[in-house]
Amino acid sequence: MEPASDSDLSVPLIRRIERPLQLKLFQTSEEEKIVIETKETIPPYWKEVTEREWNDWRWQLRHRIMTLDQLKEILQLTPEEIEGIRHSKGRLALAVTPYFLSLMDPINPNCPIRRQAIPRIEELHLSKCDMVDPCGEDKDSPVPGLVHRYPDRVLLLITDQCAVYCRYCTRRRLVGSTERSITEGNFEEVLKYLKKNRKIRDVLLSGGDPLLLENERIEEFLSRLRAIPHIELLRIGTRVPVSLPQRITTGLVKMLKKYHPLMMSIHFTHPKEITDAVRRACNDLADGGIPLGSQTVLLKGINDKAPIMKKLVHELLKIRIRPYYIYQCDLAMGTEHFRTSVAAGIQIIEKLRGHTTGYAIPTFVVDAPGGGGKIPLEPNYLVSRAKGKMVLRNYEGKLYEYPEPNIIEFKKVKTGSEEKVAAKKVMAHP
Ligand code: SF4
Repeated sequence: MEPASDSDLSVPLIRRIERPLQLKLFQTSEEEKIVIETKETIPPYWKEVTEREWNDWRWQLRHRIMTLDQLKEILQLTPEEIEGIRHSKGRLALAVTPYFLSLMDPINPNCPIRRQAIPRIEELHLSKCDMVDPCGEDKDSPVPGLVHRYPDRVLLLITDQCAVYCRYCTRRRLVGSTERSITEGNFEEVLKYLKKNRKIRDVLLSGGDPLLLENERIEEFLSRLRAIPHIELLRIGTRVPVSLPQRITTGLVKMLKKYHPLMMSIHFTHPKEITDAVRRACNDLADGGIPLGSQTVLLKGINDKAPIMKKLVHELLKIRIRPYYIYQCDLAMGTEHFRTSVAAGIQIIEKLRGHTTGYAIPTFVVDAPGGGGKIPLEPNYLVSRAKGKMVLRNYEGKLYEYPEPNIIEFKKVKTGSEEKVAAKKVMAHP
């Protein structure tokens, strides 16, 4: 690894916090009490690590936990986890940053952070609905690394590396296999394709996680894309501000700012992820003028309850992130245990819409299996429709009638020498 440059280390040092578990209680509208544990305790495994090392993203990346033996020293693993870890090779790599591990409950296997990143035996179960490429990306890939599904925008997969491998990853067929970025040759092919297709105005850089590349390499991608006149918008999809917030350095933000308009979609899952380190990272990105949105996968037993989701979207707004999408969990191989019913997602939106700030409400979508794209789903607020009126339901379940506008036709009328315009027919809206 190259030594860190000064600008890359210029993140405010986050104090090593070794305080007892702090419990925050909050009350939901349904009088249900939810406990969110906020814990940023560095496990004794890293007791020799200096504060400077802990806050250096390269150190974090180099010291990711990737084996059963290492994990056993940090977490009290269950037999289900041990079996899951043993069989993770060849399915989806195991890798967790020390930072993300420090948020896990070492004893409770149902800790929402732990469930996202530690393999379990359930991954070995393949449902008959599971698909290798659930969103049909490969068939919409005109050149390697590029997915072109919608007419005016593309998805560019620039690396297969992530800081932490999420066990529900929809792109598990690709991520973690080489931990390399797109080759020069393939990127040149991508540029050629984009230059030729003048309808493409928006490029989403994703992977893997684009922010794991060095600043210079990310800049090379951004500057070459920015040089294409019809590319109006650049977007980055990332989980790094959550799984490796140390990566959001002054140098990175300074570089990204040069390529506006640039937007960022950050993958959040649970309110427990929003720590002081994450707040600092998102604050720096927002101060860099980067509009931030969140993407959240709906996961059984992790975030599938309305009070948890409500807490998450409120915490996101507090750090200037607009909740953007909640995704129904895709049909990726070995992920059935994470999937909720589709109705669970609609129910969550029902419990948010009207019950909290409109800005806090994401769109719930199902990415149609096989490549149909995102399909938004909403509770049904249109109760009935008849000629001239609609019956609508509000968030409290009360019914309201909305009269449709009449259609009025006019005709010219002659009275003596005077010509006037008068209504000919008034018709109810069909
Ligand atoms: S960060 Fe995204 S791409 Fe990487 S493992 Fe998680 S879900 Fe998959």
